[in-house]
Amino acid sequence: MNKLHSEFAYISALRGESYSRGKACAVISVIWRETPAARKIHLAMADVEIAARTIASVNPATGEILRELACASEQEVRDAVLRARAAQPAWVALGVHKRAKVLREFQFLLHEKKSDIAAALTREAGKPHVEALTTEVLVVLDSARFYVENAHSLLRDEHLAHGNLAMKTKAGRIVREPYGVIGIISPWNYPLSTPATESLAALVAGNAVVVKPSEFTSLIALELAALFHSAGVPKDVFQVVVGDGSTGAALLNTEIDKLIFTGSVATGKRIAQAAGERLLPVILELGGKDPMVVLEDADIDVASSGAVWGSFMNAGQTCLSVERCYVHRSIYEPFVEACVRKTKQLRVGNGTDPQTDMGPMIHERQLRIVEQQVEDARTHGARVLTGGRRLPDLGPNFYAPTVLSDVTHQMRIMREETFGPVLPIMTFDSEEEALALANDSEFGLAASIWTRDRHRGEVLARRLNAGTVQINDAVSCFGISEAPHGGVKSSGIGRTHGRFGLEEMVRIKYVASDRLPRMKKVWWYGYGRNFANQIEALVDLQFSRRIGQRVRGAIGPLGSLFRKRL
Ligand code: NAD
Repeated sequence: MNKLHSEFAYISALRGESYSRGKACAVISVIWRETPAARKIHLAMADVEIAARTIASVNPATGEILRELACASEQEVRDAVLRARAAQPAWVALGVHKRAKVLREFQFLLHEKKSDIAAALTREAGKPHVEALTTEVLVVLDSARFYVENAHSLLRDEHLAHGNLAMKTKAGRIVREPYGVIGIISPWNYPLSTPATESLAALVAGNAVVVKPSEFTSLIALELAALFHSAGVPKDVFQVVVGDGSTGAALLNTEIDKLIFTGSVATGKRIAQAAGERLLPVILELGGKDPMVVLEDADIDVASSGAVWGSFMNAGQTCLSVERCYVHRSIYEPFVEACVRKTKQLRVGNGTDPQTDMGPMIHERQLRIVEQQVEDARTHGARVLTGGRRLPDLGPNFYAPTVLSDVTHQMRIMREETFGPVLPIMTFDSEEEALALANDSEFGLAASIWTRDRHRGEVLARRLNAGTVQINDAVSCFGISEAPHGGVKSSGIGRTHGRFGLEEMVRIKYVASDRLPRMKKVWWYGYGRNFANQIEALVDLQFSRRIGQRVRGAIGPLGSLFRKRL
């Protein structure tokens, strides 16, 4: 009965209807009285209805529909995971060297198709061609390079020496085993580099992968699948199930072994709750509100260019975007003036034009969030120094790069993730104040400090609550394949990328094998006064602060070796 209720709640969610247990009871009781076969047909019909849902991939610069795709039904998602599970043992049996060879081939194929893939990224996500190359294609190529070169040494067994004298007879070994099937749910803003870097780590570790891409960027995910398959990754070892949030929820409900979710805090919390119910391990890569702290000794020209690029690249739709800028009062005026001047020079337009610096936003909903936050700031006293409006002449989703001054932490623009092309700037008078302002946020993804004194920057970096701190740059940390990526506070749990990202794709197993298999262990049964004294001596030998007691302790335990045991 409860299963029917949850099916019903699920179907209601898919239809966008609210679920009422009372109303559902009436219908369920009718279904329940039917034969099992009739019940099955009912549920299958609901599944057909889900399968009939479609999503459209749209060019955000022009509004042109690129392709309509059917959402994978709950059954199709379940089947994909079952196929992945069946295919995974053969993939892991290949061994890390052969898997790395396949991924090297993927790297070559992606390199050969770099321009086509970049063009597809611009068409579906709107980003300028250069950004499609730098922040997507190049990031994935280098991530493949990192895992191909390092997977063997990072995944191999590790001998572990035991410190405790009582455990010296055992040989210890850390073994890394793939989880099995990894589910990946990804967003639209980096539709290639996010799922690809996560998949590379999962695959090289021996997992099968099922990706549910964003409903806005399914075509890129299908390109990614085609590349992996052409490179030799078996079709069932890497699969894409397209669809919307309901398809993501369906993936979460299958027998995956781990889920890597990248997206908003709101969805992340829902996923964590559902995963908690069944203790499914999850990585959550969520939103950010990254602060940029510009100290009085910063190079104003460099820092202002960094602020403009960090805020407006990908039209501000980057989890690592500069979303808050704090500048020392002594350089505030020239810094703001430089930011406004440079922002006005940006060429906004269709990303297919090589001259374009900033493309459109992904969709109307995202535009409205930006508009509302700028409006809220304006009504609470912020000054719009440039931008602050849509650019309808360019297309449906264009918003002018915007610089705001006189902002405060009472405004939404300084508290909520904006995810759009807005650079709000505030002053500070001391390092302590700058740190307090930067840390005054529910988010903690990344942060940046701008100073000519690298040592000073690194000291301050330790006091910022963030997963990554960059000195004299922002956002680019995502392109360092060796660096872990992830946040603290509401920005998420766990890490992707680099060594730590690879560790997330394996279960740690400890194998302890006794070197003296024919000897009964000294701590086994056969307790008594003598044995207690021997153990006390052993503890003294290892942990006493007095040398004499340690020396005496060295003799005591020997007798325990000859003790009669059960
Ligand atoms: P979103 O949360 O709306 O959607 C992300 C993905 O989750 C999509 O594939 C969506 O279909 C799916 N989804 C939605 N509801 C679901 C549900 N109930 N169950 C399962 N899956 C569901 O986020 P978005 O708008 O696509 O992406 C923007 C957000 O992603 C921003 O907050 C941004 O900061 C964040 N982001 C974070 C990182 C990071 O690495 N920390 C990287 C990129 C984007």
